[in-house]
Parts: sequence; C-alpha cells; structure tokens
Amino acid sequence: MSKTPAKHNCSVCDEPSGLTCKICMKVNYCSREHQKIHWKSHKPECFPATITFDAKVGRHLVATRDIQQGEIIFKEKPLISGPLGKPDGLPVCLTCFKCISNNNVCSRCSWPVCDSGCEKAPSHANYECEIFTRKRIPSVQSDTTLYEKIIVLRGILQKSRNPSEWNKIQQLQTHSDARQDNPVSSLMLEQCITFIRVACGLTDLVDKDVDQVLGAVVVNAFVSDDSVSSADLF
Ligand SMILES: [Zn+2]
Ligand SMILES: [Zn+2]
Ligand SMILES: [Zn+2]
Ligand SMILES: [Zn+2]
Repeated sequence: MSKTPAKHNCSVCDEPSGLTCKICMKVNYCSREHQKIHWKSHKPECFPATITFDAKVGRHLVATRDIQQGEIIFKEKPLISGPLGKPDGLPVCLTCFKCISNNNVCSRCSWPVCDSGCEKAPSHANYECEIFTRKRIPSVQSDTTLYEKIIVLRGILQKSRNPSEWNKIQQLQTHSDARQDNPVSSLMLEQCITFIRVACGLTDLVDKDVDQVLGAVVVNAFVSDDSVSSADLF
C-alpha cells in the first residue's frame, strides 16, 4: 500500500505544516520555501472550489472557502460570444463588445468595430465579417435584435469550422419544449432561422441546429451589460 501524505502535512516534504494555501485552502506547507517550490505544479489545480456530483443538480462546484462577490476564481474561454444591442442604439464593437463613441466601422463589412485590431480579430474576420461583406448585410443600430443574432450565427458556423466546440454546444441544456410553447421564443427562433438562411445565405442550414444554439445561449449564456455588452456561452 502506498503512503498518502496526511492532508495537513506539507505537500512537498510531508512534514507537519503550519501554512495553508490562502487561495484554495486545500494544501498545506511547512514553510514559504516549499510553498514556492510547489506553486508551479499546484497552480493549475488551485482554485477555491472542488468539483462534486449530486444526483439532483449534477456536476457542480462546491466552494472550499468564502468567495467574495465579484472575485474571479477561474477563467475559461467561452465556447462562443456575441454582442448585445444597447437599448439606446449605441454601436457595440463586434470583437470586444465595448460601446463605440467614434462611429468607427469595419472597412470590409461596415459593422461597428473599435479599430483595426478589433477588425482583424479572427472571431469577427473569420466568422460573420466575410458573410456580411459578401451578402452586403447592413448594420442597423436601431434594430438591437440584429446584434443578438450574431452569437447564433457564430455558433452555427462552428459546426463546420470547429467540430469539437460544436459538440460541446450540443451537450448544453436548451429547454426546447418550454421555448416551443412560448410565442416570444418561437418568434425569435423563426427570425434567427430566416436571418441565417436567407440574409446570410447559409442555404443548407438545419432548423434544429439553430434551435439548439439559440436555446443553449438563452438558457446558459452569461450576459454582461456594464463596460461591455455581450453574451458568453460556456
Ligand atoms: Zn515542506
Ligand atoms: Zn492553492
Ligand atoms: Zn473593439
Ligand atoms: Zn467586418
């Protein structure tokens, strides 16, 4: 039987410890030196929560210490992100999702972007930019729902461009039945399908793919509307 170091002993030398990692409260050390040595291997697993399974809620995180409101405990790249229209009709950059005050637009598609850096970002240039340019789809700031269709279009494009990310989108909860019975949701789905198939010209579009992406966004996406105006799907 292999010897597992007791939880309260130093993670490096297994001697009795007096220090605990303050970020996660999960590992202990005998000295600052050993904490420093261990940081490189500990860093990826150091966050103040553990993944647990519960029959009722499924896979979830349980905090191992108090977490402050607004404290960042880990960062993860979203599966897809998209801009959200501002109620006041201010243009929103399609790359960084900040409001644009100087009315700068993309030199190719004429949709709002902050500068040439945001214009060239692959999340814009390789996705809707080429379609909007080819199909001459104008940016209409007063129609805020146009912005919201971009995340759905980006999601649909993942099917052919990034199959592994597409598979992750397929696994997300969408509450499809509940949305079907809701007239607002049904209209939104209809409009997304028309926009992507007719306006953007993706003629081989499958309706249920749009339902999956839109549902995943509506049910799971994190919405920010302070310094940036965006929806992020994880
Ligand atoms: Zn030690
Ligand atoms: Zn730690
Ligand atoms: Zn920007
Ligand atoms: Zn563009």
